[in-house]
Parts: sequence; C-alpha cells; structure tokens
Amino acid sequence: MDDINLIDFFLSDFINPKKRVFSGYLILSIVLAALWLLFIKQQSFRGALKKIFDKKILWSGSAKADYKLFLVNRIFTFFISPLLISQVAISTAIYLFLHSVDIFNQNLFANTPTSVIITLFTITLFVVDDFTKYIVHRWMHKIPLLWAIHKVHHSAKTMTPITVYRVHPLEGVLFSLRSVFAQGLVIPSFLFFFGNAVDLYTIVGVNILVFFFHATGSNLRHSHIDIAYWKWLEHILISPSQHQVHHSIADAHYDKNFGAALAIWDWVFGSLHLSENKGDVVFGLDTYESGKEGKIKDLYLDPIYEIARIIKIFAVRIVSQALNRLLLIKNLFLAQIKKNRS
Ligand SMILES: [Zn+2]
Ligand SMILES: [Zn+2]
Repeated sequence: MDDINLIDFFLSDFINPKKRVFSGYLILSIVLAALWLLFIKQQSFRGALKKIFDKKILWSGSAKADYKLFLVNRIFTFFISPLLISQVAISTAIYLFLHSVDIFNQNLFANTPTSVIITLFTITLFVVDDFTKYIVHRWMHKIPLLWAIHKVHHSAKTMTPITVYRVHPLEGVLFSLRSVFAQGLVIPSFLFFFGNAVDLYTIVGVNILVFFFHATGSNLRHSHIDIAYWKWLEHILISPSQHQVHHSIADAHYDKNFGAALAIWDWVFGSLHLSENKGDVVFGLDTYESGKEGKIKDLYLDPIYEIARIIKIFAVRIVSQALNRLLLIKNLFLAQIKKNRS
C-alpha cells in the first residue's frame, strides 16, 4: 500500500456520504451546534466556538482512545467486509422461499405507480434497518454476554463524533450481520412483489432518509452539545440530547433510549426518556475501573475475559445441575432396589 492508499484506507469514511462522519455532515453539525448555542442558549459567538471546539473534550484521555480505536478498527473492518457477501445468500434464500409458497404471486403489485413503489421501498428499508438497530442495541444492554462487548462504547467519558467508532470489533461483526439480515429481507421481498421498478430515492447516492438523518446533526448525538427537540418530536425521532441520556450514568437514565434515528421503538417498548429536565449528565460506566477508559489493550481484551468468565460460570452451573440430576436418579434407583429387596 503506498502513502495515498494508506490515507485513503484510514480516512475513507470522511469522504463517503454513506457514513455518519462524512465531512459534509460534520460541517453541517458544527453549523447546527453554533445555531443552537447562539439562538437557543443565547451564548456569544466566541463562547459558542469555545464550547464546540472545547479542547478538554476533544483531547481528553477518553477521546484519544476513541481516535486510536477508530484507526485500529479500520483494520478489523477490512477483514469483516467479506461477511457482507452473505447478504447475497440471504437474499437468494428469501427470494426462492417466496417463489416456493403458492399463495405468493410474483409481481403481484407490479402495476403500482413507480413513484409509490420507490417511496414505499425507501421508507421500508429505512424503517426495517432502524428497527433492527433498536432490537440489537436493546439485546446488547440486556444480555450479559453482549453487554460485555457493548460496554466499550459506553466507557466513553467524553463524547465526540468519533465516539461512534468506539466499539469492540465483535460489536462491529454483530452490526454488520444485522445490516445484512435487514437488507437481505427487504430487497428480495420488494423485487418479488413489485418487480423491476424497485429503486431508492437518494441524495448523493444515499437513501434520502439516511441523508436527512445525518444532515440534521446525527453526529451531535456523540458530543456535549445537548440539542433537544420538542416533546412531541422526541416521541418520533431521537434527539442528540436523548442519546446523551442513553450514555448517562444516572439511575433514572438506565437502559433508556436504545433507538438510532426513530424514537418510536423506545416509545412502543417502554424505554423512551425525553430529554426534558435531564440536568447535567455524566457519561461513562459507574462500575468501570477508573482510568481504563483510555487504555486500548483493556478496551479490546476486557470484553473477551468477561465473556470467558460468563461462559465459565454458565458451564459450571450446567455441569453441576447435570451432576445433581444424575445423583438424584442414582438415589431413586438405589431406593427402588432397596424397596424391591424388602
Ligand atoms: Zn448502548
Ligand atoms: Zn452512543
């Protein structure tokens, strides 16, 4: 790899509009943060700039760890990408399944006006993708084995847009599979029922809804700029302030706001927390040993040790339960023999 390719390899996400940290979205986020601080928080221009580019946050130990993880995870992503090939397999399997079921007619809705097909496809892909993100994120908090991995993201004590990359590679694998599953489900189903008119409404090659999500400050979710929405809107869309609540260590904020773009899932499944009256939030993990949020080695290896510990406890429990049952059977057996003899 020559120098240019190496820079390209590590920084490609900043020039890719499909990625949240695309430079265009980052610039829009800065503008949005400035407008929020100037007009809603009534801060001076100088004060707003100082707050947005707060050196204590941008160069904190936690943020430096984020930057290192970003670089190292690029290498992991390079090896994970072949997994995406499995999307073709899932799509083909679903397409063949739909063919095999008699009650499903191919091209059943092919006469639908093209604009309606494209609108439906654009919305469905976005909604299904967002819903699977909610489900997997919820599992990551509720299932101890997955929480061991997801803890890495929550160990951030300060947040910058790069914190979105503060994830363990195993979480990267899980989210890649989720994406493969969501797209593998929606694309062949639409092609089967709607035919060849299936297409996406896009801006710069990105689903228009994804573009809108990123262009309106998705990067500020991982930041100290707590932009809140109106109450009614926070039932539909997750505001930056609501994701900051998700990162808060306060008891009242525990296991709230798992949503990515849509807040509807949190609202429906009872995990919604509005940003109103949230006060000053402290980010991080209250149980995490202090100082570990900045050590790369710990961020990669601690989850592995914890997973091994959980599996060991589980295995010991299963084996001891099996031995207890064997002992019970043996005692019953002996008791029966004794009874027969007497
Ligand atoms: Zn989380
Ligand atoms: Zn987050």
